[in-house]
Amino acid sequence: MLDIQKIRADFPILSEKVNGKPLVYFDNGATSQKPQIVIDAIATYYQEINANIHRGVHTLSQLATDAYEISRVKIQHHINAKFSHEVLFTSGTTHGINLVTNGFASILKPGDEVVVSSLEHHSNIVPWQMLCEKTGATLKVIPMNENGELIMEAFDALLSEKTKVVTVNHISNALGIINPIKYMIEKAHAVGAAVLIDGAQAVPHLKPDVQDLDCDFYAFSGHKMCGPTGTGILYGKEEWLNKLPPYQGGGEMIKEVTFEKTTYADLPHKFEAGTPNIAGGIVLGTAVDYLNNIGFDNIQKQEEALLEHATKRLLEIEGLKIYGTGKNKASVVSFNIDGIHPYDIGSIIDKLGIAVRTGHHCAQPIMNFFCIPGTIRASFSFYNTIEEIDVMVEAVKKAKTMLS
Ligand SMILES: *Cc1c(COP(=O)(O)O)cnc(C)c1O
Repeated sequence: MLDIQKIRADFPILSEKVNGKPLVYFDNGATSQKPQIVIDAIATYYQEINANIHRGVHTLSQLATDAYEISRVKIQHHINAKFSHEVLFTSGTTHGINLVTNGFASILKPGDEVVVSSLEHHSNIVPWQMLCEKTGATLKVIPMNENGELIMEAFDALLSEKTKVVTVNHISNALGIINPIKYMIEKAHAVGAAVLIDGAQAVPHLKPDVQDLDCDFYAFSGHKMCGPTGTGILYGKEEWLNKLPPYQGGGEMIKEVTFEKTTYADLPHKFEAGTPNIAGGIVLGTAVDYLNNIGFDNIQKQEEALLEHATKRLLEIEGLKIYGTGKNKASVVSFNIDGIHPYDIGSIIDKLGIAVRTGHHCAQPIMNFFCIPGTIRASFSFYNTIEEIDVMVEAVKKAKTMLS
């Protein structure tokens, strides 16, 4: 078992007080906290090797370039990509998805279909809607059931030779449901569609294997996996990245520029125009090392224990309903109490030092499905404790008494 107190000591913010109370941080689905080793690595970069990359012959530029490219290879191995040039640095999941939808604008034709799931974050809905508007393609939606699970029979029925892209999240941010993406990828490929997986909520909890999944694209953010904000990765299969046009034009992404014609750089640089978040990209590698040192098996064990305890304790509260009751779940509990607005509970427990998210969690279609304005979402990380869950449950009980 993990020594949670020792791990907590790695995260300076976890010993802060908020509103005079010890912080209980259960908003990990929005962003994770950062260990000292990650915080220090940012300063070390600027103190010791700061320079622009891929351009200078001078020593610092080479050191910075090496560190950036070593991080790329580290992430390649972490997600088991075949080539390091299939690993693109982005500013986050949103950037990665937009890079792909922008590329498909030159591929899709009127009558083509894009299949999205009803469990998506707005980041994985809106760019596809914009793409459909631009190209005349049609957006199709995989429905869900009362447990928050996607209905696979309905998904199968949506697929046809018109389907060009299927896009779905690995784990739902609003409900924590883990989607059967391996099955979905196989089915989508059988009709010749490309598949993008939004892995933003998966990477803090598991190590994705992109070759085993056989997905065409896998997008995620660094900041939800102990890395810095403004960092992320888009994995794309080499053949797709060669097929898609560049997203942005600029420095770094070209082979040769004349006013008559510009030729683009090879992968991955074709998709990395301009000076990137160099420190962030390097330190994302530090965060990946940190998580692997703890071990994803250990992370999952701790998070399963937290999920089980939270589910059991919260259901002791009369009138409390959990959304997302499917079997396959990450450590997220989304709930409401009869007749009380989620925002009111969130505000009261915030005064007690407890950070949860309230609202629609950038997934309004899910809230519409359940006919609710939003939920209270407690999302747990391996550095959370059973005792913290008990503190939250008591606080929610107190808020309920005050509000009813
Ligand atoms: C957080 C999140 C996003 C967006 O990530 P950004 O870091 O804001 O770009 C997309 N999809 C899911 C499922 C998320 O949880």
